[in-house]
Amino acid sequence: MSSDKTVRVRVAPSPTGDPHVGTAYVTLFNYVFAKQNGGKLILRVEDTDQNRYRKASEERILKGLKWLGLQCDEGPDVGGSYGPYRQSERLPLYKKYAKTLLEKEKAYHCFCTQERLAEARETQKKEGGRFGYDRHCRYLDKSEVEKKLQGGISSVIRLKMPTEGEGSFIDELRGPITIDYNQLDDQILMKSDGFPTYHLANVVDDHEMKITHVIRAEEWISSTPKHVTLYEAFGWEKPQFIHLPLLRNTDKSKISKRKNPVSLDFYRRKGILPETMINFLGLMGWSFKAEEREKFSLEEMVSSFKFSDISLGGPVFDQKKLSWLNQQYIQTMPQEKFLKHCREEMFSESILKSIYPLVRERLDSFDEFFEKFSFFFTLDLKYENLSLVPKEKTASEMKTIFLELSLLLDEIDIWSLATVTQVMNSYLKDKALKPKEFYMPLRLILTGRQDSPPLLETMEALGRDVVRYRLQWVCDHIFTG
Ligand code: GLU
Repeated sequence: MSSDKTVRVRVAPSPTGDPHVGTAYVTLFNYVFAKQNGGKLILRVEDTDQNRYRKASEERILKGLKWLGLQCDEGPDVGGSYGPYRQSERLPLYKKYAKTLLEKEKAYHCFCTQERLAEARETQKKEGGRFGYDRHCRYLDKSEVEKKLQGGISSVIRLKMPTEGEGSFIDELRGPITIDYNQLDDQILMKSDGFPTYHLANVVDDHEMKITHVIRAEEWISSTPKHVTLYEAFGWEKPQFIHLPLLRNTDKSKISKRKNPVSLDFYRRKGILPETMINFLGLMGWSFKAEEREKFSLEEMVSSFKFSDISLGGPVFDQKKLSWLNQQYIQTMPQEKFLKHCREEMFSESILKSIYPLVRERLDSFDEFFEKFSFFFTLDLKYENLSLVPKEKTASEMKTIFLELSLLLDEIDIWSLATVTQVMNSYLKDKALKPKEFYMPLRLILTGRQDSPPLLETMEALGRDVVRYRLQWVCDHIFTG
């Protein structure tokens, strides 16, 4: 994987929801590779799907990576000479390049309506033709296209994929990957709202930002032949492609928040140290062969890492292993660092401030603090003597309710008392639930106690990750009937 050019790699998260451990994993391997080669790591925010764009989510991703010590050299927060680093601020560029492709006749306008596409799909299903867009507009003649454009008919721009033969690219970990062009659709490059799709924006930016190595997760392998076709259509030099093995749940399925907490914020709240998380993610697919030990620092990884040592069998994000590793770090923590952690993470100003209005009226003396309020600090609660299923309901009904609620809470944009209250009230109303059947179990689930400060304020203070974790936990372990 040698090259005489300065190595430039990138991470390109889409800011939708929690800062994902998968983003940290990919960033880590990019970071290590950049450092080893005296290169640069670029952070690019892929926010072209405006419906799903979340400013708060972008901030949490940047904060999460900083927490881990994965400092990027260029990005929306630090700037750089290839910016802007948010795709939503680069729209004219994608327009320009889409136009280039139209002029080179490598792309075409497609005027098909949703109805026509649905009809075509039906016909294809009946006749057993190839899947995907039937390329109706690819063969319109120029005058017809002009007429439609003049008439202001809405259109998307599609890439002309080769209609026969095979395309291939080299994955540096897997060797050549070949795909039958028949299997690939004429990909949409520009949507009718003037926003580019992932494929166009990603390739244009990797080219413009002079990316030399695209190091990303395995799930993007199927997009790469489309990207390669785009590079060829533009006549651009391709970067090298490296697809890291996907993180997996213990049952080997692709890591998902349904089975495993995936938010970096969650692990930080749980008390996983950043050096543990880095070490743990470094062990995903790679091992410190030189010394055969599992505990290593970021600097040690930088000095020993080789892509050729990556094993492709899906690495398992195993919570038990993570806890074990964390314990190794806590055991050897110098006193100063230990105290700092307690002050800044466990009993941080922000946690103490958020619970202050909730606890001060409920304390006769400070020695009751942990007895009454440990649920603000401990993640896993004990529900032994509590009955979480009210008489009128079954466990499976409770499971449905709280899983649905958990999903709704996950969709909240900015977590606050007002937004939580609004979601809770509308859910209660929608489902015509009696407050008693709903709030009491919820209080028990979230605090492990019958008496607690007001529930909605408590939820606000606990934060989304902890609330969702506890809901999920009881659904998996208690509402199993
Ligand atoms: N925006 C994509 C993501 O969310 C980037 C994939 C890539 O690295 O090309 O992961």
